[in-house]
Amino acid sequence: MFSIQQLGYSLNLKFAPVIIVFAYLGPVAGLITGSIPLLARLYIGGNWYPDVLGWTFVMICFTVMHLYISRITPIKRVLILSGIYVSIYIIFGSIFHKIKDNPSVHFEYLLFVVLGVIIATFLIESYVKLYRLNNKLSYMYKKVEESETNYRLIAENTLDLILVIDKENSIRYLSPSHQFVLGYEESELVGIGLSTLIHLDDVCMIKNTLNEMLENKKSQSFEFRFQHKNGDWIELESRCMPVKGEDQSMKHIVIISRDITERKKSEEILLQSEKLAIVGELAAGVAHEIRNPLTTIKGFVQLYKKEHNSDEYSDLILGEMERIEMITSELLSLGKPQAIHLKRMNIRELIENTLDLLSPQGIMNDIQFILSVEESPIFITCEKNQLKQVFLNVIKNAIEAMNNGGKIHINLRKSADGKCIITFQDQGCGIPEELLPRLGEPFYTLKEKGTGLGLMICHKIIKQHKGSITYQSIVNEGTLIEISIPLAI
Ligand code: ADP
Ligand code: MG
Repeated sequence: MFSIQQLGYSLNLKFAPVIIVFAYLGPVAGLITGSIPLLARLYIGGNWYPDVLGWTFVMICFTVMHLYISRITPIKRVLILSGIYVSIYIIFGSIFHKIKDNPSVHFEYLLFVVLGVIIATFLIESYVKLYRLNNKLSYMYKKVEESETNYRLIAENTLDLILVIDKENSIRYLSPSHQFVLGYEESELVGIGLSTLIHLDDVCMIKNTLNEMLENKKSQSFEFRFQHKNGDWIELESRCMPVKGEDQSMKHIVIISRDITERKKSEEILLQSEKLAIVGELAAGVAHEIRNPLTTIKGFVQLYKKEHNSDEYSDLILGEMERIEMITSELLSLGKPQAIHLKRMNIRELIENTLDLLSPQGIMNDIQFILSVEESPIFITCEKNQLKQVFLNVIKNAIEAMNNGGKIHINLRKSADGKCIITFQDQGCGIPEELLPRLGEPFYTLKEKGTGLGLMICHKIIKQHKGSITYQSIVNEGTLIEISIPLAI
């Protein structure tokens, strides 16, 4: 296939592939390729002796040479092998007096083979380069895609808000978390000035912080309020970082923020409850101090009453003093650390005891207690006196809410999830829904002579018993109070 006939000689390329294969694939592949032109030569016949001798010599030289040149680049190997081939051809041609007959044909032949080798090498090298380039490109594409996926994964699945703004403070990128935390779609915010969404009081501080960051080129932290789409203000804790472009100048600012509204709220609640605890202790201390002089005064007023027979004023004084005593004793029970003796108790007994205590008050107010209890006894682990105090407070409130008399239903049962449920249903004045959350707050009372401490004490005790207390109420119809306490094991 590689041959051209000229002046009775066949000019052919057959050795070009042999050289290329030797150079690129080594001696085994080279020898197999080399055997093809040999067979072709033998097939043509004629005076093949010098050709076969030359062929054998070339093959031996190539194989031996390969041992020395296997480490250099294929292009150099091609050049060396081509040189060896040309040299052997000329030497053999001279020995067998072939070149002398028609030197131009032999020269053309060698030129032809060498050109063939050069073109083939050029094609192979170009292909190899292209192949490598292609591989490198696909590898790079894969890497870029991988890192892009990683960044997307982080940006799209974090609750932190990632925001990129430019030097003019316009939003350039925002993470999808903005929709979840602040309610905005991406398209609603891109290109918008940051300051339009920030609380007016914080704008100045943020501008100063950003300017400071641009001057120092160091990241800065700040807290500010961002407007939710529904108009609420969300408190954010943020860190901003400058991002430099290729020319080392500031291109963008990255702001990473976190919603701290809940944290702020719970910090406030904690502060409030700490304050309350201190107030409670203080109140108990004051109450204790008041009680002693009060006892003395009471004694003297009673004495005064006896000696002067002046019922009108002394009764008034004594009545008011009783009220002070009541308040101080409730305050005391609030602040005093009480020794708790937890005992296994049948809750029915406790309730019955409490109802016995309150029955005179019930009769006086024309109120009937109706107790319904499950057949099987219900045991809880509790501090008897404290729990009695809870029932007393709750039933007293119910009595006080029912000016016209009526019935108070008390129900005792076990719940499916291992709790004892005690409900108190009265037919009193009820509590407006908006006031329900305030029940249990210290000093919250709607009564002229109330202390506003009863329910607070109940909450405290029920909490100590790992239970809960809930209220449902309809104004002018009545209130349902449900207390649940874990059953004894
Ligand atoms: P006090 O009884 O001294 O007012 P409490 O803490 O016991 O204080 O109760 C707080 C307030 O809750 C009461 O003033 C009353 O307005 C309301 N309240 C409690 N229980 C009931 C009830 N069963 N029916 C109607 N209002 C109630
Ligand atoms: Mg009360």
